[in-house]
Amino acid sequence: MTAHSLPRPFANATPAAAVPVSVAYGDGIGPEIMRASLRVLAAAGAQLAIEEVQLGEQVYLAGHSAGITPDAWDSLRRTRVFYKAPITTPQGGGYKSLNVTVRKSLGLFANVRPCRGLAPAVATRHPDMDLVIIRENEEDLYAGIEHRQTRDVYQCLKLITRPGCEKIIRYAFDYARAHGRRHVTCLTKDNIMKLTDGLFHRVFDEVKADYPEIATDHMIIDIGAARLADNPEQFDVLVMPNLYGDILSDIALELTGSVGLGASNNIGANGAMFEAIHGSAPTIAGQGIANPSGLLLAGAMMLDHVGQGDAAARVRNAWLKTLEDGVHTADIHGAASLGGPVGTEAFADAIIARMGEQPRHFRPAARSTAVVPIYTPEPPKPALKQLVGVDVFVDFTGTPDELATALNKASGNPLVELQMITNRGVKVWPQGLPETFCTDHWRCRFVPRAHACINRAMVIELLRDLHYAGIDFIKTEHLYTFDGDAGYSLGQGQ
Ligand code: ATP
Repeated sequence: MTAHSLPRPFANATPAAAVPVSVAYGDGIGPEIMRASLRVLAAAGAQLAIEEVQLGEQVYLAGHSAGITPDAWDSLRRTRVFYKAPITTPQGGGYKSLNVTVRKSLGLFANVRPCRGLAPAVATRHPDMDLVIIRENEEDLYAGIEHRQTRDVYQCLKLITRPGCEKIIRYAFDYARAHGRRHVTCLTKDNIMKLTDGLFHRVFDEVKADYPEIATDHMIIDIGAARLADNPEQFDVLVMPNLYGDILSDIALELTGSVGLGASNNIGANGAMFEAIHGSAPTIAGQGIANPSGLLLAGAMMLDHVGQGDAAARVRNAWLKTLEDGVHTADIHGAASLGGPVGTEAFADAIIARMGEQPRHFRPAARSTAVVPIYTPEPPKPALKQLVGVDVFVDFTGTPDELATALNKASGNPLVELQMITNRGVKVWPQGLPETFCTDHWRCRFVPRAHACINRAMVIELLRDLHYAGIDFIKTEHLYTFDGDAGYSLGQGQ
């Protein structure tokens, strides 16, 4: 028995039928809501063989920078089903996000976050909202590749890939199809990030042709977020890159009435992780008042995933009936509640007491038969890739004209010329504006002169020239065309 072990809620599971599941009790409110959730799943007849894994705050503090031990990895790779309570990442440097590590290491590319209004049981201004956010889970700014390059400037790389876009966008359409949903909205900021978000939007437009029965639209993320906050009822399935999905799902969840209600699954070809959307809520930990609903509903998703859809439906119906009957934890307590707020365990007891019952107001949940296929992208078509220039990033303090003069003096190759200099993406040379605020971080674009070509040896030569002239170059980005299309952004002001 470990510190978190229960009075063996799955002791009655039939060994042959029990599906192995890795379970982490987490930090903060994690152990409380996990205990309550497992009791309810067991009462619903779930057949699970639980392997408890240790991860989270204590594991971080014991010196594992990702918050997880090799033993836990072994369990996750063996069971391929992970039921995880929220964990706390200790403050301070050096600790990697466990969630990001697990998602990326196991290839859990799709994060599915349903958000639904539960009025009148739970007060919300949006009783009819019923949407699903499908968030790309592995790419975008979450690569964690960051650099400080100069005194003033820090950089974070945003990585978007074609196979990553294809996988998540097809998953969103297949999810809509499998769950009888009719509309998929894509959200990006491709008016600004024309290459990265532009790729996501372009792949969406390509893929949607294969799902003619599903209506589609695209919104710029800022207006999409505003519309979501004002009128979430208009949305059905939403698909978007990682960071936008993180932010929008919290907005959507808040609109349902409590962050304590949100469940999520993380799906990949080789495994799945089920968790509440909220964090470890340390401020209410240990008080026995947390709402276990998010983690419990994640557990129901897990039962669907392992083919125990009948048990999942029993969980959902008993939970809906409990809400209808006005048995509410503090976070959702209000006019529709009967009596005072109940604690975590009492809420679980109330659900267990209603096991087998159906809700009257809410539509009862049926056994889910939805199977969402996981798409494996085709090998990419070869493209003709041609080097057409180089951006040399330079750490320099001075004016644009001074920098241009220094660069032109340094560069000894008559076949290569300085085409422009930008600062924070704004063109400052030639013909910059004196009003433009400049930092010490400059992008200096070199291209071949008319009728000349550039190759990597010329780039090395250029850097050598800059080095001997004392110019502090900090990185380069090659400019390529792919089948003749520019694979780089042009400076603003051009
Ligand atoms: P973390 O650092 O782990 O993300 P946090 O407290 O910053 O923790 P959340 O855990 O998401 O962020 O919680 C924010 C607030 O939402 C909590 O302080 C708590 O008031 C409320 N909350 C979150 N989860 C629940 C829950 N299951 N039941 C009740 N209230 C909750």
